[in-house]
Amino acid sequence: MTDLHRLSIRELSEGLAGSKFSSRELTEHYLKRIAKIDAQVHSYVTVTPEQALAQADAADALRQAGNANILTGVPIVHKDIFCTQGIKTTAGSKMLDNFISPYDATVVAKGKVAGLVTLGKVNMDEFAMGSTSESSYYGATKNPWALDHVPGGSSGGSAAAVAADLAPFATGTDTGGSIRQPASFCGLTGLKPTYGRVSRFGMIAYASSLDQGGPMARSAEDCAYLMNVMAGHDAKDSTSMDQDVDDYVANLNATSVKGLRIGIPKQYFNVAGLDADVKARVEESLKKLEDMGATLVEIDLNMTDAYVPTYYLIAPAEASSNLQRFDGVRYGYRCENPVDLTDLYKRSRSEGFGPEVQRRILIGTYALSAGYYDAYYVKAQKVRRLIQQDFLKAFESVDVIAAPSAPTTAYKIGANLTPVEMYLGDIYTIAVNLAGLPAINAPVGFDKDNLPVGLQLIGNYWSESQLLSVVHQYQQATDWHTKRAAVAEENA
Ligand code: GLN
Repeated sequence: MTDLHRLSIRELSEGLAGSKFSSRELTEHYLKRIAKIDAQVHSYVTVTPEQALAQADAADALRQAGNANILTGVPIVHKDIFCTQGIKTTAGSKMLDNFISPYDATVVAKGKVAGLVTLGKVNMDEFAMGSTSESSYYGATKNPWALDHVPGGSSGGSAAAVAADLAPFATGTDTGGSIRQPASFCGLTGLKPTYGRVSRFGMIAYASSLDQGGPMARSAEDCAYLMNVMAGHDAKDSTSMDQDVDDYVANLNATSVKGLRIGIPKQYFNVAGLDADVKARVEESLKKLEDMGATLVEIDLNMTDAYVPTYYLIAPAEASSNLQRFDGVRYGYRCENPVDLTDLYKRSRSEGFGPEVQRRILIGTYALSAGYYDAYYVKAQKVRRLIQQDFLKAFESVDVIAAPSAPTTAYKIGANLTPVEMYLGDIYTIAVNLAGLPAINAPVGFDKDNLPVGLQLIGNYWSESQLLSVVHQYQQATDWHTKRAAVAEENA
């Protein structure tokens, strides 16, 4: 078969179960595509053909012995922020260019138990800080829809790999939008789960109270398969929630769009900088959901103006603390010939971290310093609570909240946004992390340059099944998620 890369996760699972193809054939097929196409897209930091083929053979043997799971032998890629035993884990940073993890992240380990075959590790903004994937030490990833555009970030490699059909699905992480925004820029479906639903163990920390791993794929159905693998309590992550996990695949039709109350925040559709095409496509998708039986309810989210300043204090504050461990002593990059300990710290960190990471360490350290802690950090925490309350109040009268995932479509590579311009692009995603809520991006059409537009649906705590179900039904009634990026079309 030549079109294995066009099959959905369910089709891959059925094909493997029905012996239409083996995991080895499937894995070889993907490895060939990566070798042929990824030079254009640059989604991978590390391809692991030997390990992948060994895992594929093991999967085939399991299946032959009658011991296969639903996903045994299906390939996946992991964002290079998840530790993978024996395979380089860089977080997109020179600091970790030489880091080979001695253990697997829980998400990776769960993938192995499920029988997934790891094709490699994909590119990302350095330490997940950014919205374009350009801050990676390994260079920019390209958007498969238009190679002179960014795929979004920070999980840009995950998004580009799936959009170019170089992996059937991928893991991502979302601290302030890094699953939803690249999914939006690359025409994919991506779910940011409720904080605590997916283990953070072995996921390199950016801002621990915001970070959450989740699936990125072509459809809600594909995401549901990966959520069934990723979700669940983990004793190794004290913030992971000890609460039953849904069967996200079985629940794909469990929520009816009929009667669903969708909140439309007034403030969101009046944001300066909201692109007219994005606004139009999102409104059309909401009209479609209305035709399918949903009710649109105008709501207020009065704290909207506070999102960007609050997030850009809390996230850098936590980052500055988390990144202290990279000191040139224990692991990671160490400068050449330090003259003393201070020189060792200073130069290892100045040479190992890129400019965006250094900027955030500076902001975060400032906000946490003795003289400013109350004025900035404590204040931001108070505002964070108000933002959460704003959402909880809204959920008293609606089931989900609709928004664009980003105010624009994908930026041009090298657009050279100032840091503040870039931060403003996170307006629709970061409040969800501050509140710890789940949210999903679904592709809903294109702008005038044929770049994908995404609709975001925000749910109440633990409503992942509902979000996947609503998007699944939307995707049964529309075909935006089946459209393929230019690079994928050229290499059909
Ligand atoms: N763009 C946001 C930031 O730079 C979000 C990144 C993320 O979710 N990891 O912080």
